[in-house]
Amino acid sequence: MRRLRKTKIIATLGPASSGADSIEALHLAGADVFRRNFSHGEHKDHEERAAAIRALEEKTGRPIGILADLQGPKIRLGTFENGSVILTNGAKFRLDLDETPGNQDRVCLPHPAVLESLEDGSILLLDDGKLKLTVAKAGADFVDCKVSVGGKISDRKGVNIPNALVRMSPLTDKDRRDLDFALSLGVDWVALSFVQRPEDIAEIKKIVAGRAAVMAKIEKPAAVETLSGIIDLADAIMVARGDLGVEMPIQEVPSIQKRIIARAREAGKPVVVATQMLESMIAAPVPTRAEVTDVANAIYDGTDAVMLSAESAAGEFPLEAVAMMNDIAEETEKDPMYRSVIDAKHGTLEATTADAISAAASQVASTIGAAAIVTYTTSGSTALRAARERGETSVLVLTPALKAARMLALVWGLHCVHTSDAKNFAEMVDKACKISFAEGFTRPGDRVVIMAGVPFGTPGSTNILRIAWVGEQ
Ligand code: PEP
Repeated sequence: MRRLRKTKIIATLGPASSGADSIEALHLAGADVFRRNFSHGEHKDHEERAAAIRALEEKTGRPIGILADLQGPKIRLGTFENGSVILTNGAKFRLDLDETPGNQDRVCLPHPAVLESLEDGSILLLDDGKLKLTVAKAGADFVDCKVSVGGKISDRKGVNIPNALVRMSPLTDKDRRDLDFALSLGVDWVALSFVQRPEDIAEIKKIVAGRAAVMAKIEKPAAVETLSGIIDLADAIMVARGDLGVEMPIQEVPSIQKRIIARAREAGKPVVVATQMLESMIAAPVPTRAEVTDVANAIYDGTDAVMLSAESAAGEFPLEAVAMMNDIAEETEKDPMYRSVIDAKHGTLEATTADAISAAASQVASTIGAAAIVTYTTSGSTALRAARERGETSVLVLTPALKAARMLALVWGLHCVHTSDAKNFAEMVDKACKISFAEGFTRPGDRVVIMAGVPFGTPGSTNILRIAWVGEQ
């Protein structure tokens, strides 16, 4: 199955997309990576979804990435007796440590450190800032609030406290248990929420110990301030616009998004734009014009992936949302202006063999009109540098490491195939031609540009650029 776009699509799985059939339909419609949000669902659910994804991989032969998104020290409400309540402006509402399901008068806020840090006059924003509470009386283990902006609030909605400093570890006990479990399922990516400092990434990487790649979610002002250090340590970056737009003035989100994409592209680290991309499709089969333009703008900036959250996890039209993202990406990438915008933001090359060969491969392929670039990789690092080129020619990644193929499913323009490594020059050329033909990238008479490393099978040895003709297959 060959995608007709370079930008990747991440679809969050949830109650609206939990069965094996729905997961297959979403993948066929365009989802390259599936995200499980560990803020919701039981371990058993995550396990079943992961098994369904791996069974689907087996069926289609295409590597699919699984992203486990850890809740992080996100402050969330407890649950309500009836799932939700409507809070009216001016009403009184208590937040406490009592885990009994909440009602019209109170709900649990299961974070003692947060309650301790609140004082009279503190502002709490609920559900991505849709509701606003003002603390009228701060007790030792409760706060009595006045509803300043009311609305509907349901189970486990997020709470942001923009002007209070809450000292919390980047990984809660729940995150540590979830991380352990996610790694036991063999997920390819783990995302850490509410990262504040590069040290937070160092901490999670120590635990993950190479068993998955680590994505830093940028959603706190402190993370925006220490962005370069976070990009250096993380394997990928997510512009987590939901919380970012609550924690920071919302009008700053577009410029921060553009800055993050530009810096991540320069560093050759994959970047994901997330949240509310097609929000209206939670309840409608077509998005707004503004949403379509938002997705397209992220694509023009060269993001690696665009992400669906509630649209695919809990909305009424998950399939339509994925298909719509696919259509927007295909159409945007066809625009002649897309190429000129992408090329204008090309990063400077590092003085490494991988960068020299990647840039040369892209240049040679476009000069001779090659149908594809084929790169051999074990760790995935050469493929990442090839993707950083954002070249016009399709890039096929041949790798003996299934883990790398799944991890790279998230990355701009890479079509990964799990196969054994080439043992000699003849096999290197033969495999590149056969697989590029079988995957629908070449026809007899086409040329391919091959990147590989000699001695064959040695990670980090990329040093070969070869042009080959595809013969009759
Ligand atoms: C976000 O805040 O934008 C985000 C992606 O995180 P979550 O879905 O966990 O709120």
